[in-house]
Amino acid sequence: MVALSREFSTARSLVYISKQLDQLRLQHQPPRQPAEPFVPFSQLIHQRKLLESRLISTLDGCTHLSQIKQVHAHILRNQLHQCSYVLTKLIRMLTKLDVPMDSYPRLVFEQVRYPNPFLWTALIRGYALQGPLQESISLYICMRKEGTGPVSFTFSALFKACSAVLDVGLGRQIHAQTILIGGFASDLYVGNTMIDMYIKCGSVNCGRKVFDEMSERDVISWTELIVAYAKSGDMKSAGNLFDGLPVKDMVAWTAMVTGFAQNAKPREALEFFERMQDSGVQTDEVTLVGVISACAQLGAAKYADWVLDVAEKSGIGPTHNVVVGSALIDMYSKCGTVDEAYKVFQVMKERNVFSYSSMIVGFATHGRADAALELFHEMLKTEIKPNKVTFIGVLIACCHAGMVEQGRQIFASMQKYFGVAPSADHYACMVDLLGRAGRLGEALECAETMPIEPHGGVWGALLGACRIHGNPDIAQIAADHLFELEPNGIGNYILLSNIYASAGRWDDVSRVRKLMRIMGLKKTPGYSWMEAEKGVIHKFFAGDMTHPMSEEIKQALEDLLERLKAIGYQPNLNSAPYDMNDEQKEAILMNHSEKLALAFGLISTDAGCTVRIMKNLRICEDCHLVMCGASQITGREIIVRDNMRFHHFLNGTCSCGSFW
Ligand code: ZN
Ligand code: ZN
Repeated sequence: MVALSREFSTARSLVYISKQLDQLRLQHQPPRQPAEPFVPFSQLIHQRKLLESRLISTLDGCTHLSQIKQVHAHILRNQLHQCSYVLTKLIRMLTKLDVPMDSYPRLVFEQVRYPNPFLWTALIRGYALQGPLQESISLYICMRKEGTGPVSFTFSALFKACSAVLDVGLGRQIHAQTILIGGFASDLYVGNTMIDMYIKCGSVNCGRKVFDEMSERDVISWTELIVAYAKSGDMKSAGNLFDGLPVKDMVAWTAMVTGFAQNAKPREALEFFERMQDSGVQTDEVTLVGVISACAQLGAAKYADWVLDVAEKSGIGPTHNVVVGSALIDMYSKCGTVDEAYKVFQVMKERNVFSYSSMIVGFATHGRADAALELFHEMLKTEIKPNKVTFIGVLIACCHAGMVEQGRQIFASMQKYFGVAPSADHYACMVDLLGRAGRLGEALECAETMPIEPHGGVWGALLGACRIHGNPDIAQIAADHLFELEPNGIGNYILLSNIYASAGRWDDVSRVRKLMRIMGLKKTPGYSWMEAEKGVIHKFFAGDMTHPMSEEIKQALEDLLERLKAIGYQPNLNSAPYDMNDEQKEAILMNHSEKLALAFGLISTDAGCTVRIMKNLRICEDCHLVMCGASQITGREIIVRDNMRFHHFLNGTCSCGSFW
């Protein structure tokens, strides 16, 4: 008991002593450091979130792998190596830098015990972009097996992968997944990438079905389909969809304008462009290039002047925009106003190979060989390398000027000095060059020995040369090739029969005519058109009396022909069908569409104005003769664009030198 009590008292005194010691310690302690402040858990989370977002935004600014690795070190130091949120960004940045998925990104991913769907998707997306596509599908399957739900990005990545390899079958299976898993079939983002996938794989109809079933659509869904319809040439469906589009943005308008322009419906293209202007939607260079190409097809130079104005006002005029500038050069040349084209060329602050090539081709096709060659030499002094189109222009120029030797040299230099392999088009130019110069044998040899398969243009050039120089034997060889390559090209049959007719070989004429009958070939109706005022196109068919000014046109034409006859014009009856009498022939010739257009041009424009006429077929010899004479007696410049080239008639002569 004593022992116990002693022990007890010892214990008590021990407690006492220790209390005393504590007191002492307290008194002798250096001033105490402020204690670590107490941090509530919610604030810790907040700090971590801040750190995560800081790391993500740092990652966002990385442009090199080494920088990413530094950030990765921070991630590890801060024990965020399991944080799907930050690692998703890391993998996305590695994908952006094209780091192979199998290496670094895969290692990062595999360290994570419970990757969230976004981290899975980052890897799936990486494989989808880099390939193999199979790997992203396998990952998707693993992800589903682990019970991690996909997110809309997962599907968009997979759809993009399918469109990259054009695998519509796999695309359909993933489409099925979006329905099976539920909730995704109606997702706007998933729907849009699905439409895109079907369109890219070539089934616009499936894309349309997805579109029709979408519960929510945005401007992207509409526009994607409109663009697809326009590209496939189905302007009717594109138009219907466009009309239903609640808010029409620039992309949708542009799709319509360029769609019509690319599908040879230039009038509609201009119509839509005007509606677009009225609606106040901004125009960009893509829209303008579409409009400009429509003007070129129509030969609507006056309309183009207005387009140029619009371009300047929108700040995308030729001075500052090389794409618009080059398109304008091409367009003005095609409208027959090569001087306007050159004005555009001169104001351009920046020029590229397209600007130079368009201008060289423009000069060349208008018979201004010297200007074309001079510009070519100027181009060679710049940094800009000539391309295939440049050489086409240069060769056409040589052709017009009859510069056979220079043409040959340039042709030989293409591959040797500029690394541009001659195409069939370049060979066609050479055949044309030799043929026009009367070297038909050499032209034939060139066509027969060229290292690539000659196309219709090559043989067509030879046939044309045979007409100029009256060589029915070589003409037959060229025609035989043409009949094989273009069995329905009626122009070749007509040209051949005309060559025989000029040589007086009537048996051959009827043989060719018979062949045409057997083939059931019908003549394409010839028509001509011209732009009277801005964008107003007057179209004339042969013998057409439907124009409101028909009577005046007929009278003007009769007066003109009378004045021509007074200075020695004789109708060229070879240009009319052979099975008629001369009077009938003359009546037919008089009604040729380009003559009607000429007469209309003369009475509807001011004296001294240039008359510009476009024709869908080649101008006939008689009309060529009339145009020459008309330019002489009226003192006007007359420009005819036929399906082959430009004819500038001035003071009784034509820029083509009567070779066409
Ligand atoms: Zn004619
Ligand atoms: Zn001509």
